[in-house]
This record gives sequence, structure tokens and C-alpha cells, in this order.
Amino acid sequence: MTIYGPVRSWRLGYSLGVDPLLPPKTCTFDCVYCQLGSTRRKVDGPEDVKNYVDPQTIRKELASALKKLKQESIDYVTLSGVGEPTLYPKLKELVTNLREEVGDLKIAILTNSSLMWRNEVREALSLLDLVVAKLDAVDEETFQAINRPSPRLRISMIIDGLRRFKEEWGSDKLALQVMLIKDVNNSAEYLMKLSEIICELSPKEVQLNTVLRPPAEKWVKPLELHEMQEAASLIREYSSSNVITAYQPRQVKGELKVSVVEELELKVIDLTRRRPCRISEIASILGLRLEEAESIVKGLVADGSIVEEAYGETIFYKAKV
Ligand code: SF4
Repeated sequence: MTIYGPVRSWRLGYSLGVDPLLPPKTCTFDCVYCQLGSTRRKVDGPEDVKNYVDPQTIRKELASALKKLKQESIDYVTLSGVGEPTLYPKLKELVTNLREEVGDLKIAILTNSSLMWRNEVREALSLLDLVVAKLDAVDEETFQAINRPSPRLRISMIIDGLRRFKEEWGSDKLALQVMLIKDVNNSAEYLMKLSEIICELSPKEVQLNTVLRPPAEKWVKPLELHEMQEAASLIREYSSSNVITAYQPRQVKGELKVSVVEELELKVIDLTRRRPCRISEIASILGLRLEEAESIVKGLVADGSIVEEAYGETIFYKAKV
């Protein structure tokens, strides 16, 4: 299944996800905070990817999903999923197909920025409405500590790729996403270094995130609300950017009316295979009342299809992969 959702996120509002790579997670990074666990297939580039869905099949699945939804309730069709979407070997063909299929809907991508130094990747991304690009570090040591990239990647290549994207296509369609980890990249000194690069790239928006889902490594800790607010203020002050945070989500369109109500159990399994979810998220994403979601989840936990995992005081549900 390459189409999932709609999923509501603080970054993009309601989006219908397109996941062009097949599980298990295939990525150029192995981030310490990854909610999908450790990267089993860490690769250098699209040449190393053999396991993917062809663009025509994705287009057909998207057309079918869009038919079942009220398009006005979706903010974006979003390329993301189980791994890094710019690893998709036929990225430009895929993006062109999606563009033809979605009509007036906007298309976004959530990328880790690792391949934006490649001309063909920047060219494909230029066809989208919004490129949400990860930038957690601005020096090599922190980059290696947080993102644990494939051996050929350097932070200088990634920042250079972002600079070139801005030079070639402007910064109107560029948003930066920064994951802040307590005592790793949230000191005032580090945030100022980050702000210098943000200022230079002048993205449309900076999305500050912290570790709100179970991370790949247990030592990884989130920032508290006041620390996020301080970080956001500092970045706003030094970079003059529009900063939103995971604790202060953007306004989204009204309540989603999901017309698809069949196969709820399969949907819960699919959803929680992609990322651990709270019960409230499952209810919200599937358009259910809390009690209905609880009843479905309870059954799936009982038959072993999904498991509970506590993170802090919150219970998340994830499918057995
Ligand atoms: S967080 Fe994103 S970039 Fe990092 S390992 Fe997970 S999928 Fe890859």
C-alpha cells in the first residue's frame, strides 16, 4: 500500500501520504530519534534501491484514494513514508505523474535533504509546492552524532545542496525542519550557529520539532515546552524566520470528513506500521470517536497485531513489523 492517511500533522495540516519505497525502512540516515527504529537498509543513493513501487501503480492508487476523499479537506498530498523519498529511483517521473493526477491540490515532500546536492534531485523537487527539508546539525560532529549518515555523506554537502536549491528555485517553496534533542543541539550557542545558516537560506518557514514519539535510541530526550519556546524565540530573533513548533501547531482546515470507513483494522495496522501513534491520533486520522478507536485497538492488541509502547506518560501503538 503506497497511499496512506489522510494524516493530520502539526507541520502540514491534513495530508494524504504517498510512500514510494517499500518496507523495511530504506534511508541515507539512521537518526537516533527515528520513530521507525534503526535503519535496516542504509544506502548512499537511488542506485542502491531495488525495492520500490513503479510510478504508474502509485498514480493509480492515488487516483483511487482521491476519489474516495473530499479533496477540499486535504491540505497536501505528501511524499514521505518508510524512509527517504528522494531515494526513489524515478523521482522526476513520479513527481510529474502526481502533479498531473492531483489537479489543484498542493504536493509536498518531507526529505532529510541528504541528496539535494544532486542536480536531478533538486530538479525533481522544484516541481513540488513545498519541500520540507531536514537540518538538525550544522557541523560534522553533531551531524554524525544525530543523523548517523551513510559513509559518503557530509554536512557540508547537505548545506551546499540547500544553498543551491535556494539559488536555483528561490526559497518560497523551502521549509526547514529541525529536530531538537536535549543537551545535543539545543544550546544557545548551537542555535545561533543554526540560525546563521537558516538566515542565509531564508526558508518560508522553520518547523522546530522535538522527540515526541518513541526514538530509536533510549538516551534521546525531548525538550520541554519552555525550552522549545526559548529555542523558537532565539531562532526568530537571529534569523527573522517564521518559526512554528511541535507545541504550537499551525491552523489547519476544519474537521476532516473521511468517507472511507471500511477495513478499519487494516488501516490501524497500516498506520501504526509507519509510525507509533497515540489512541487520539488513530481516532482523529480515521475519523472515529475515541471509544470506537479504543475498541478496535483493544482487539488488535489482544490478537497480537499491534503492541503498546510507553514513552514518558503516553502510550503509543505500533504494528509488529
Ligand atoms: S528520521 Fe527520517 S531521515 Fe532519519 S532515519 Fe528516520 S526516516 Fe531516515
